Amino acid sequence: MTGRSTEVTAVTPARQWTSVTRTESSEPMFDAAARGELILKRCVCCRKHRLPRKNVCRRCGYADADWVVASGDGILVTWGVHPARERGAADEPFGLVELLEGPWMESALDAAPDDLRVGQVMTVAFVRGLEGDLYPVFRIAAEDGI
Ligand SMILES: [Zn+2]
Repeated sequence: MTGRSTEVTAVTPARQWTSVTRTESSEPMFDAAARGELILKRCVCCRKHRLPRKNVCRRCGYADADWVVASGDGILVTWGVHPARERGAADEPFGLVELLEGPWMESALDAAPDDLRVGQVMTVAFVRGLEGDLYPVFRIAAEDGI
């Protein structure tokens, strides 16, 4: 997924992106986001991908994993909307995206709720949270996405 910009102008400009706290275990994810990359863990035993916060492989139970760069593309499994936090702010869609590599990732969605459809092709984008770090969100992929 080379060529992604490291920070995007949000499709929903009125949205205030929430704070996501950097911790020791989430640090690799934030460092990758700063490079414009979405990363996953890949089990060194069975090669199954898993989300960065998962410490053990669900297939084989092995803990050791490599960090790998994900495609950043996936399919919208389901979604919902948190109402706007204050007058004039945008509603805040969130959803579950099945990544091409397999894991299902919960994420904020940078899209107008009326444009979202289950099964839609989504692609990662990176927005800056209140704490200053970039973090991954998903938006609707362009027609020629994947
Ligand atoms: Zn495994």
